[in-house]
Amino acid sequence: MSDIRNIVVLTGAGVSAESGIATFRGPGGLWEGHRVEDVCTPEALAADPDLVHRFYDLRRAALSSVRPNPAHEALARLDRAWAGGLLIVTQNVDDLHERAGATRMLHMHGALRQALCAACGARFAWADALPPATPCPACAAPALRPDIVFFGEIPYQMERIEAALAQADLFVSIGTSGAVYPAAGFVRLADAYGARTLELNLDRSEGSDWFDESRLGPAGTLVPQWVEQMLNA
Ligand code: NAD
Ligand code: ZN
Repeated sequence: MSDIRNIVVLTGAGVSAESGIATFRGPGGLWEGHRVEDVCTPEALAADPDLVHRFYDLRRAALSSVRPNPAHEALARLDRAWAGGLLIVTQNVDDLHERAGATRMLHMHGALRQALCAACGARFAWADALPPATPCPACAAPALRPDIVFFGEIPYQMERIEAALAQADLFVSIGTSGAVYPAAGFVRLADAYGARTLELNLDRSEGSDWFDESRLGPAGTLVPQWVEQMLNA
């Protein structure tokens, strides 16, 4: 792998599973007992703000009892040690990559520990419960919502992600089902730009056929092995 300089890593819920955070399309396609349409869409937020805010309040509160696992730690090590380009794009809304120490990363689907003002667009670090109609510290509108990208909304920083994919020599997808677009399409984009593509996942995903190589197993084992391989190449 000595010809590799620029790496883009995409992570999904599977990278946090061994930390004890439930994945999404587990049995029955539910997320912590809820149909995703009931908690992850702008329509749900409008129809039942109490339910949606409470759902994310619980997810946010749960972050204080989980810790980064060896997959997050290994990616943070890669971030510190890799001399070439690196961008870790996470679909996760937990904060385990940054708590492990990763810095060259972004949250394309938003972050639980952040609030977004629907009126003025300002963002705030948010650690506690966020009831509906909480006033915005910047503009005072009662319009703070969890800073989560719902189905039907456009993910964050797509231009930056596409620019990184265009420069990538290696694209690595970790713990994601390949069912949620546009992230699920990154492998094809990276491939079209000439990158090598590698998947690390517990089992075959919907996108497995698109990858040059798929390694099957838990992220907490596969990611440290892959990082070791990259840093020793
Ligand atoms: P997903 O839940 O749809 O798929 C998870 C994938 O990870 C599956 O393919 C599964 O086989 C794999 N997996 C499970 N355990 C694993 C392990 N130990 N090691 C490696 N792989 C493992 O997740 P997704 O593709 O990220 O899509 C879900 C969406 O829901 C995301 O957009 C995300 O925003 C949201 N979500 C986030 C979190 C979180 O922040 N931790 C948790 C659940 C859902
Ligand atoms: Zn505001």
